[in-house]
Amino acid sequence: MKIKSVRPFILHVPVTGSQIADSTHSISHWGVVGAQIESDDGLTGYGFTGTHAHLPSDQLITRCIETCHAPLLIGEDAGDINRLWQKLARNSALQWVGRAGVVTLSHAAIDLALWDLKAKAAGQPLWKLLGGQVRDKVRAYNTDIGWLSITDDKLVEGAQRAVEQGFTGLKIKVGSTVERDLRRLASVRKAIGPDVTLAIDGNGKWDLPTCQRFCRVAQEFDVFWFEEPLWHDDVKSHAQLARATPIPVALGEQLYTVDAFSEFIAQQAIAWVQPDVTRLAGLTEVLRVCETAHAFHLPVAPHAGDMSQVHVHLSYAHSACEVLEFIPWIKDCFTEPAEVVDGYFRRPELPGASTTPTPAAWAQFRQATG
Ligand code: MG
Repeated sequence: MKIKSVRPFILHVPVTGSQIADSTHSISHWGVVGAQIESDDGLTGYGFTGTHAHLPSDQLITRCIETCHAPLLIGEDAGDINRLWQKLARNSALQWVGRAGVVTLSHAAIDLALWDLKAKAAGQPLWKLLGGQVRDKVRAYNTDIGWLSITDDKLVEGAQRAVEQGFTGLKIKVGSTVERDLRRLASVRKAIGPDVTLAIDGNGKWDLPTCQRFCRVAQEFDVFWFEEPLWHDDVKSHAQLARATPIPVALGEQLYTVDAFSEFIAQQAIAWVQPDVTRLAGLTEVLRVCETAHAFHLPVAPHAGDMSQVHVHLSYAHSACEVLEFIPWIKDCFTEPAEVVDGYFRRPELPGASTTPTPAAWAQFRQATG
């Protein structure tokens, strides 16, 4: 199965409501910036990374796919995923200009398209190729109820509604002021009772003293994890916070390599490991992160940059994956959406990685690739 063509695409899909915000940004659309890889036997694989739908930066990614990565792939055997991963990641000209960022995000889209193609060629859902099913069902937690742009009243209403729908895990954003965020945390915990797991996510906004001050009170509310409490690359401060609070530290959505995860693990700065196939040069590198976490008996909760379309396959197949994030923004753009029923992700059944866009989404949301 030879690679015949590699073509980039961009979809800009509206988020829930009109706009969402966390501690660092607000957005109105999610960017699905990807690669469409066609093989000589007529199959097409789709892969994508996730962005804030900023067209000029999305077009940097599509340009990298088209002009830098595609020429390295044409005529290659599409099934040689590990070898092709090495070929792109260790290309001296590309790694010189980017061992993170645009080069890696575009590599992620390509790697996922190759996995999609391989699963389609095998006539199997991706999780079967990854070793088969390791658990009966994948527990979902709902992030979409907890944005900082949601008022206090609506936050509590949304949390209660999600629990009524069957969710056993929720996450709310923090990183505004300590006082406001503690008030919101307390009111959500009171509304949902003790049996629903409740995580918080700071998106790297606060410094160490602020996190410590927050955690001293927040620990009363049985916080499942504190995600990205500090700046993404600051291993030392995360290790200090992890020693100072009983609340488990979670992170990983902004890390680009297994080496970065290894450093956090070595410094005991991380309790929940959160890799993302759209950030880490695809599923191939995420599998290395999952194996590394597993070797240290750390649970994995994949971050939903792909809105869980691919991560649901990973979570059904990998022993380390304990729980998976649910955000519904783009699921209906795909022929097999990542659906949650009674609080658990439905197991994908169609051949592939659940990354094939519907004709309707393709027609409605496509943007110029530059
Ligand atoms: Mg997060």
